[in-house]
Order: sequence, then C-alpha cells, then structure tokens
Amino acid sequence: MIERLLDLVWPRTCAVCSRPVDRPGRHLCADCLNRVPFIAQTGACAICGRAIEDSAHEFTCDDCRAARPAFDRAASAVRFEGRMRELILGYKFNRHLWLLADLADFLEAAVRARFDVAAVDVVLPMPTTWFHRMDRGYNPCVYLARQLARRIDRRLDARVLARQGSPRRQSDLAADERFENVKGTFAVRRAEWIRGRTVLVVDDILTTGATLSEAAKTLKAAGAARVWAATLARSIL
Ligand SMILES: [Zn+2]
Ligand SMILES: [Zn+2]
Repeated sequence: MIERLLDLVWPRTCAVCSRPVDRPGRHLCADCLNRVPFIAQTGACAICGRAIEDSAHEFTCDDCRAARPAFDRAASAVRFEGRMRELILGYKFNRHLWLLADLADFLEAAVRARFDVAAVDVVLPMPTTWFHRMDRGYNPCVYLARQLARRIDRRLDARVLARQGSPRRQSDLAADERFENVKGTFAVRRAEWIRGRTVLVVDDILTTGATLSEAAKTLKAAGAARVWAATLARSIL
C-alpha cells in the first residue's frame, strides 16, 4: 500500500540511467543492478569481511592481525565507489529515502550471506554524531537498521547504543587519528537488554572500522556476548 502510494509520488525510473524500473518499490533497473559493485561474502577476512579475489577460504587479514577490532565479525554489502558512492551519499546527506528499499536489499543480502541471522538478538543502529543531530535529527542508519530488522525478523532497538561528547568528524581525520577521536564517545543505556546477547550494529560506511570497533568495545564492556557489524558500503578494501 505504502509502496503504491510512493510510486505515485516518485515515478519509478532508474536512479542511475533513468529508464523505467519494473520491480515494485525499487529504483534501480535490472541492468544497473547487475553493475552494482557487490563485495564477495565468502573467501573474506573472518573478522572485518575484507574480500580478496582469489581467496577460497576465510582468513584473517593483515590489518585485523595487527590491531584486532573489538567487533567479532563484520559484513559490508557494496564497494563505496562510482555511481554507488553517489547514490549512498545522496541517501546519507540529501535524504534520498526513496533509495531505501534498494539499499536495504543490498544490506540484507550481505547480512544473510555472512551471519546466522537467527542468532541475532537485537539490531542496533549506529547513533548519530553531533554533526548529524544538527541536521534535524535525520539518521540514515536508523532507517536502514529498521528495514533490516523487519526483513530478518529481529528486534530493533535505537536507544541502547548512544553517542556522548562531540568528537570531530571522522571524515576530516587521518586513519590513525580516527581511533583516538572516537575513544570514549559511546555509551550504553539499559545494559540489561544486551547482557549475554548477540547484537548486530548497522552503520552506513565502513572506512577504517574505528567507529564500529569503539562501539563494539563499549557494547562488550556493557556485557554483550557477541558484536556483529553490518555496513552498507566499505570504502577501504
Ligand atoms: Zn538503470
Ligand atoms: Zn580483516
């Protein structure tokens, strides 16, 4: 019903090539869908999900070996490049919510391929930073996490993981500064809701993994048994 209403508001043409799209509620045509830079979910790093083309088995990548992230396992759906990068930036900064169903398709496929979704107790969106809060409270991760939770039939909780303090924007910083910048910037509310549980944190873009790792560290300190992470895109491969 809602999808039909939305189709009236936003005629369904492909977000990339402008040709008509015949998949309900979607805005990428079959040709453009075929060109989406999906990340392989098998033969990847067991921890961060980095995929190396000729690897047939899971391995631990050099970065994860040098500094093990606090999350146990991460999955990213697509490479943050080309037209996909533009679409995701439009969704993230310009509220192109009509792309949500397509983006959630990518995220859901990666999550199902990489995790035992039945083992997830609760889905947590990455909370916003001060920078986004100023932008009338739009948090693109909440919409993505809500869609994902609904599709894999798991509980969503947008209150457990919170941000505190005002770190500088990660995108303004070099890789080594990013880990320092996010230290101590997360808080867990209602720790009893995640104690002994498996949580899946949803974020939009994985770069160094510093933010997700810090969030995972905080969740584990509050008693979470396992922290898994799913991001729509990954910018450093
Ligand atoms: Zn197209
Ligand atoms: Zn890794």
